[in-house]
Amino acid sequence: VTSAGDSTLREYLQHSVTSGSGSGMPLLIQRTLAKQVTLVECIGRGKYGEVWRGHWHGENIAVKIFFSRDEESWKRETEIYSTVLLRHENILGFIGSDMTSRNSCTQLWLLTHYYPHGSLFDHLNRNALSHRDMILICLSIANGLVHLHTEIFGTEGKPAMAHRDLKSKNILVKPNGTCVIADFGLAVMHSNVTGKLDFGNNPKVGTKRYMAPEVLDESIDMYNFEALRRTDIYALGLVIWEVCRRTISCGIAEEYKVPYYDVVPSDPSFEDMRKVVCVDNYRPSIPNRWSSDPLMAGMSKLMKECWHQNPNVRLPALRIKKTISKLASADEKLRLDYDEVCV
Ligand code: ADP
Ligand code: MG
Ligand code: MG
Repeated sequence: VTSAGDSTLREYLQHSVTSGSGSGMPLLIQRTLAKQVTLVECIGRGKYGEVWRGHWHGENIAVKIFFSRDEESWKRETEIYSTVLLRHENILGFIGSDMTSRNSCTQLWLLTHYYPHGSLFDHLNRNALSHRDMILICLSIANGLVHLHTEIFGTEGKPAMAHRDLKSKNILVKPNGTCVIADFGLAVMHSNVTGKLDFGNNPKVGTKRYMAPEVLDESIDMYNFEALRRTDIYALGLVIWEVCRRTISCGIAEEYKVPYYDVVPSDPSFEDMRKVVCVDNYRPSIPNRWSSDPLMAGMSKLMKECWHQNPNVRLPALRIKKTISKLASADEKLRLDYDEVCV
């Protein structure tokens, strides 16, 4: 990054980050945030950059360090967290953003709450789930998605948002077994009041494996916000399938698998996905066993309604949340305090 680039970023930071309402933190503290953080261990590494566990005022926090070539994702995430009141128990907790220089390299940091269980993907790989575990996970994700998708009016309000990269690796697990939605690098904002659809400036697209049929066959109207919300619902259907496979039913849980593990290679191409999802109209298979377990049968029906070929048939997030609540309260063994923990 050149010094010209640096000053643009500085300006950007001072303009939008420090004036944002998202972190609720005074300007000066935010601007020097990185200086107060000690990096402890790397907990994630990828094409994107790195995620570290760090110490900040005696607390564990997560530090997402973006490569400068992914500047647009950093800007977008910072913007999303700063300009809207995104605080919610099922949305990753934001602390602040900073730009810092190490070995004369510009580093873009995003500081958030730290979740020791890591991503839902990691959690599912390590653990089989009870019915209750499954309900807590699915209900909390649906609850987070309702908050994200809904416009809230007034001074404490927020625009409606679509995530556009929902998947098990972008969901984190809290110690109480509920989840938060994370990774807002591709999120889009929409306000009915202004009629404005704000894409940010990120050239990246979502994860191919989780792309909805209308994205893969390029029939989607990207400027229709409702259409973007419905692509999140498709991805949610796949996530629910991943979670249900790890749920013990009739004494058995399936091993963890990514969606479409049986029909596309790892790191599938756009064309691989398009053939399976649009041409063959193939969807993840539902184990027979689930049909004899009322809760799992209900969840199977739900996931199918989420990943339906026709986006107009997919359920809104609020309907999904209500359906899961109903299924849980109909399950006799599940007369538990899930709504206390979660909603
Ligand atoms: P990217 O935009 O590069 O995909 P993410 O925000 O999705 O970055 O983070 C990458 C990975 O790092 C996640 O899949 C998760 O495993 C881990 N991670 C991210 N944030 C946290 C956090 N706050 N607590 C624990 N682990 C995290
Ligand atoms: Mg991610
Ligand atoms: Mg990302």
